[in-house]
Amino acid sequence: MEINHSAAAEVVAVSQNMTRQGFLMGTGGNVSVRVSDTSMAITPSNFDYMVMTADDVCVLNWDLQQVSGSRKPSIESGMHAAIYQTRPDVQVIIHTHQVFASAVALINKPIPGLFDEQIRFLGKSIEIIPYRPSGTGWLRSAIAKKAKNHCNAYILQNHGALILGDSPERAQFNVEILEKCATAFLLAYFTDERVTKIPAPIREIIFAKLRKDQKTGTLS
Ligand code: 13P
Ligand code: ZN
Repeated sequence: MEINHSAAAEVVAVSQNMTRQGFLMGTGGNVSVRVSDTSMAITPSNFDYMVMTADDVCVLNWDLQQVSGSRKPSIESGMHAAIYQTRPDVQVIIHTHQVFASAVALINKPIPGLFDEQIRFLGKSIEIIPYRPSGTGWLRSAIAKKAKNHCNAYILQNHGALILGDSPERAQFNVEILEKCATAFLLAYFTDERVTKIPAPIREIIFAKLRKDQKTGTLS
């Protein structure tokens, strides 16, 4: 298969934008874009995203066979493939090492539904995926299990974050919303005050809008 230039160009644009904004740093984190029902374009492993071009991007199928690109693909390819298989609504995946979400990854506390826009775009709560070493089948399985909750952001214990979207723009907005929620949650959590949540019936109403969009493919 020829390299899919539009998907590869999107991988480059998202990776560089996320690096510029400080959500990806060094060579940490990775980005993928769905190419078809059976394949994805994904960043090469251990690569400087600011010098990456579309030709450096790898295309893999769900069995992780490389169908184009000559670079070594991200060690997290299995985790990305598992999500695309579990979640047909997902078109773009961004795995970040963003700082405030990473701080939440250290205290191992899920972020409850705190803000309307959080529930509308990320889901009812931001769950913690228990620690599994990077790039392993254990991490892949833990994530595939959790992704069934239809949310668009997860925190990887002692590692970073995982953000999903139905377009490159939405996935990047979701990264920003996650960092805002993580920052506000930490600031509130370390006061002596109770952290208040959006009332449960309202959470259900707002989350139902996200689920509707996921089913009809209209959100972006
Ligand atoms: P890759 O450079 O192989 O994508 O790994 C980076 C990372 O964040 C591992 O979790
Ligand atoms: Zn990582």
